[in-house]
Amino acid sequence: MINDHTDSYFVLLRGARRFHEAEYQGDRTLMARLSQGQEPDVLIIACSDSRVDPALIFGARPGDIFVVRVVANLVPPRRPGDATAYAVMAAVEYGVKALGVSHLVVCGHSHCGGITAAMDTARGQEPPPFECLGPWVELADGACREVLAEDSEGERTDAETATAAEQRSVFKSVANLRSYAWIQERVESGDLTLHGCWFDIDTGKLWTADADTAVFRPLPV
Ligand SMILES: [Zn+2]
Repeated sequence: MINDHTDSYFVLLRGARRFHEAEYQGDRTLMARLSQGQEPDVLIIACSDSRVDPALIFGARPGDIFVVRVVANLVPPRRPGDATAYAVMAAVEYGVKALGVSHLVVCGHSHCGGITAAMDTARGQEPPPFECLGPWVELADGACREVLAEDSEGERTDAETATAAEQRSVFKSVANLRSYAWIQERVESGDLTLHGCWFDIDTGKLWTADADTAVFRPLPV
């Protein structure tokens, strides 16, 4: 119920009015064109986290990017009949096959709660006490275990371990995209390019992944 002008949803409704003023009462060119259909060329799979909105991070306008947001930006590997993958992959499939996007981007981020939960579980703690979330973040278990195994001496700080797991998980999600034949075929034909990136909430810098080495480096600013 909205009965308070400081109510968080009421604040958003004011934002909706501002958007309408800017895009529909001013220059309507963009939205008039978009009302005829969308032709985004980039599809981004990002986390549901409130701090990492792809449209804001990439400075995108309406119509620029087709977005899938899901906890920890995880892409399940192809397992025929596994409906848990459909929520993510139905959107990816539509973007690739129907919209014909040229770029598929998996975007991770720092302080990712989903990866933290997966890492805690990989370290032997109880899975998160959530009916749906626990099984979902298990998809990052492999990435977390790899990162832990690499640092058996415990030389990394917790923050470095978290970053490594977030970035490794992005790379595994990119690899999982290739397990779908309709994606791999387009990659091989040159019609589709896969990317991994990671947003650092602390510095505001986007890190991009080298496709061959899986090494992430900050984008020069
Ligand atoms: Zn996250």
